[in-house]
Amino acid sequence: MDNSGKHILLVDDEPVIRETLCSILKDEGYLVSTAETGREAVRLSLQKGFDLAIIDLKLPDIEGMQVLRELKENSPSLCAVLITAYPTTESAIRAIQEEAYEYITKPFDINHVKLVIRRGLEEKQLENENRRLLVNLQSEKEKLETILHMGHVMSSILNLEELARFIVDRICEVLKVRVCSLMLLEEGELVIKAAIGLNELIVRNTHIKPGQSISGWVVEHGEAVLVQDIESDVYFGRTNLPQYETKSLLCLPLKSKSSVLGVINLADKTVAGKLSVFDDQDRQFLSIICTYAAIAIENARLYGEITSLAVTDGLTGLFNHRYFQTRLAEEVDRVQRYRHPLSLIMLDIDSFKKFNDTYGHPLGDKVLKTIARLIKKNVRKVDVPCRYGGEEFSVILPETGIKECLLVAEKIRRSVEEMEFETGKNGPKVRMTISGGATEFQEGVSKAELVQAADDALYRAKSKGKNRILT
Ligand code: GH3
Ligand code: MG
Ligand code: MG
Repeated sequence: MDNSGKHILLVDDEPVIRETLCSILKDEGYLVSTAETGREAVRLSLQKGFDLAIIDLKLPDIEGMQVLRELKENSPSLCAVLITAYPTTESAIRAIQEEAYEYITKPFDINHVKLVIRRGLEEKQLENENRRLLVNLQSEKEKLETILHMGHVMSSILNLEELARFIVDRICEVLKVRVCSLMLLEEGELVIKAAIGLNELIVRNTHIKPGQSISGWVVEHGEAVLVQDIESDVYFGRTNLPQYETKSLLCLPLKSKSSVLGVINLADKTVAGKLSVFDDQDRQFLSIICTYAAIAIENARLYGEITSLAVTDGLTGLFNHRYFQTRLAEEVDRVQRYRHPLSLIMLDIDSFKKFNDTYGHPLGDKVLKTIARLIKKNVRKVDVPCRYGGEEFSVILPETGIKECLLVAEKIRRSVEEMEFETGKNGPKVRMTISGGATEFQEGVSKAELVQAADDALYRAKSKGKNRILT
């Protein structure tokens, strides 16, 4: 065993013993400190960390047994060897009770002392090693539990935004990082779906193309990147961005079976509250989380697609008739309780039968799609544009009175009127028009009566010559 670096404290009031033992132990390669009294020994033990202490039972100030107790209090793993010129059964028993490693009587054989010290230190080293392994095992166990728990919860969250939020929150909590973002590829660009530690502006305005910056590289190559110091990194080296406190970053891909869905970015790792640097263990742990996360994200997306399919009209992409009915019932219910304004528009293409008869059904479908697009373009995000039936459309406008509603309807009508519709390769470009009825919810009116009122207005618009909106 290599003795260098092992520090021994020698406590004995007899100068001869202290000096001889000290020089012998130094020859063995140990670091040795000596103390003449118990107090001095205790004081020294507070200043330095000793691996082993040799303590004479009889000291001028305090009893050796008391010294042993106090040294153990300061450093519980200390290996203590007691020596005495007056061995009694009682003191031997107490030495054991105080967890002394060995009890040696004077006069001693120096080779015996050397052996005791060597064995004591070896045992202590083993003990420390075991303790370290135990701590490692404990932390591995906690990580496994986290992975299991996260995997379980992730698979049950079907809303993509909520899922992204959960993943980011948990990662920050478990890895003690201050900045974390989850980015997904949408229309060929990485956008931030959830983040902690980044300001709202960055979250909303970040768009990264594959290949650009670190996350773009990760998404393109499908491999993790661990940067210890961004400013001196050979590959990604750049000035550290102001939003990060440390220069260490970790970015992992979210890989599904067939493709890379996005990335998870981490920065500003802390250990016991202090900023730190990412290591390979973090990368390994995160890559398991990312495997689970990618599956959950894919499922949530699939679920989102299925639910949106159920409420979407296949031809136009607007909400379907069923959704219109459910949503209108909800909105009517809401305004009855909170007395907010609510308006409804019904639209119908003028003389559409003639168009179909002239140019055929497929081109008619194209017209329906184009008009649906124009409707969508002219309503707000909170409005609900629907395909009511064949060539009839409806728009629910929450929080909107009749004046504003008429403006919206008029905008739609005009945009259709101004549109030139294609009628095949050599066919002429034709103009189409729509008519509409607009109405605002009045207290005490049922959902059916509201629809009827808009429909009546539409009927009037038709009979007054079409291409107009009436109330
Ligand atoms: P008006 O100005 O009075 O509304 O006349 P119109 O011809 O539009 O009204 P009518 O109700 O007589 O005819 C509606 C036509 O809409 C019938 C049908 O050919 C057409 N239509 C309904 N649904 C579809 C569809 O999904 N695709 C196509 N291409 N045409 C449709
Ligand atoms: Mg019609
Ligand atoms: Mg019509």
